[in-house]
Amino acid sequence: MRIAIIGGGIAGLAAAYELEKTRQSGVPVEYELYEAGPRLGGVIASMVVNGPGAEQTVLELGPDSFLTEKPAAIELCRELGLGDDLVRSNDAERKTFILVGKRLVALPDGLMFLVPTKLLPTALTGLFSWPTKIRMGLELLHPPRPHVGDESVAALVKRHYGQEAVDRLADPLLSGIYGGDSAQLSAQAVLPRMVELETKYGSLTKGMLAGMRAAAQAKAAASSSGKVAEPRPLFTTLRNGLQQLVDAVVGRLDASRLHLQSPIGGLSRVGAQWALVGAEGVAEGLAEDLFDAVIVATPAWSAANLLGGVDSALAEELGGIPYSSSITVNLMYDGAEFDALPPGFGFLVPVVEGRAMLACTFLHRKFPGRTAVGKTVLRAFLGGARNAGLLAESDEVLTRIVRKELFEILQISVAPERVEITRWPRAMAQYAVGHKDRQIRIQNRLSELPGLRLAGNAYDGIGISDCIRLGRGAARELVAENTSTRA
Ligand SMILES: Cc1cc2nc3c(=O)[nH]c(=O)nc-3n(C[C@H](O)[C@H](O)[C@H](O)COP(=O)(O)OP(=O)(O)OC[C@H]3O[C@@H](n4cnc5c(N)ncnc54)[C@H](O)[C@@H]3O)c2cc1C
Repeated sequence: MRIAIIGGGIAGLAAAYELEKTRQSGVPVEYELYEAGPRLGGVIASMVVNGPGAEQTVLELGPDSFLTEKPAAIELCRELGLGDDLVRSNDAERKTFILVGKRLVALPDGLMFLVPTKLLPTALTGLFSWPTKIRMGLELLHPPRPHVGDESVAALVKRHYGQEAVDRLADPLLSGIYGGDSAQLSAQAVLPRMVELETKYGSLTKGMLAGMRAAAQAKAAASSSGKVAEPRPLFTTLRNGLQQLVDAVVGRLDASRLHLQSPIGGLSRVGAQWALVGAEGVAEGLAEDLFDAVIVATPAWSAANLLGGVDSALAEELGGIPYSSSITVNLMYDGAEFDALPPGFGFLVPVVEGRAMLACTFLHRKFPGRTAVGKTVLRAFLGGARNAGLLAESDEVLTRIVRKELFEILQISVAPERVEITRWPRAMAQYAVGHKDRQIRIQNRLSELPGLRLAGNAYDGIGISDCIRLGRGAARELVAENTSTRA
């Protein structure tokens, strides 16, 4: 069986890794991976400054870590022999601030993502006005509400906690994760747990408290039977940067099957097989090379272009998935700590504050072992759904904007010794209202196209772990399908 993989981001690489493992186990599977750009890893890219060694500092140009609770990334790292290089986030210092005017206000204790669960910290926080705090208390009286259709995250949060909670919580938290706009993002796709809690309990706070009680009981039962699990950090990363994961996967693949600078322009069906069409002037001769199956692991807008000639309805659905662009600005300073930095991982900036920055992470605190002693690394995240114009600005302008905002917010006037700016155009899929229904329509079209799979951040989770799960899953499904048709 021959399988083509289009796209060499982590989703495509995970698919290739799975196929390589299958091949080495003796199953007759061949694969070829085509990547448009000059390097593999997609948006995962790290830079090691003054390394390797004790003096090194890791800068992450794209993602900086994976969520520990989603297992696929850590499992893959362990399989690749990177278990000893996994680095836990420094959760003892895990405090996040929200910018309100020129003040940084800590998220109140007991906040479970968007849901307040502790009375006193919520009553005392400077993040919300008294009308919002009273509303948060009265939210406990919300009756259960069946969900008939999708709605925006902003609509769901506003119904429970009011507009201020949308502006100061939902918007900054979601733009920090998705570069997205809570008024556009789907409650069903982005906050399925909240939708479930509202259906069952009415009040999100009541539902969350019930979940916490159940978890505490389960923990007590486990500890009485001697099975106490070690507490997990919220985030995990790799000692030398996430690029280590990319390099380790690539190291397991057969280099002759990896084709860089090979943008694919389209796909076509040839009987029961698939042919790839090289983008104009490149990857010539591909059309004679037939595959039994294809994994399209590109962003959905690129998948739409690839599949236009195969299934126009599918291409239209894929093309309808919106994307946002973002920019990371890594600033490395000489000086272990700046007095003005509040004690925590960083801060989020609500859109209503009208700033370019969406978030700023104090990376030397989040993962202390990755920054050289005596250095400080701040990482600003700009762009997002409402500020895409920034992408066209020069490095000088972006540096000036970020330094000005850091001065106004943190009073940092000292010049960084190094600045790394990375633009990620149309890289982050936005799960807009109706995303789940779109997913079903996409799956229905795919069921008519044997041998075709989609993987990547546009479908069922935007995190690195999700993309690994989807890439490996697509590869496994194709191998299983082929085995069952042969049997
Ligand atoms: C700035 C930023 C920060 C993030 N932070 C985090 C984080 O901290 N934790 C986390 O879990 N997730 C984070 N994410 C999300 C996560 O990193 C991505 O969703 C994930 O890495 C995407 O992987 P992918 O393989 O789906 O896509 P990509 O990485 O976008 O790779 C797709 C590849 O397809 C190639 N391609 C496109 N069209 C073609 C074509 N026609 N022919 C051949 N190749 C093509 C592209 O060149 C690209 O290399 C972040 C994302 C960004 C942008």
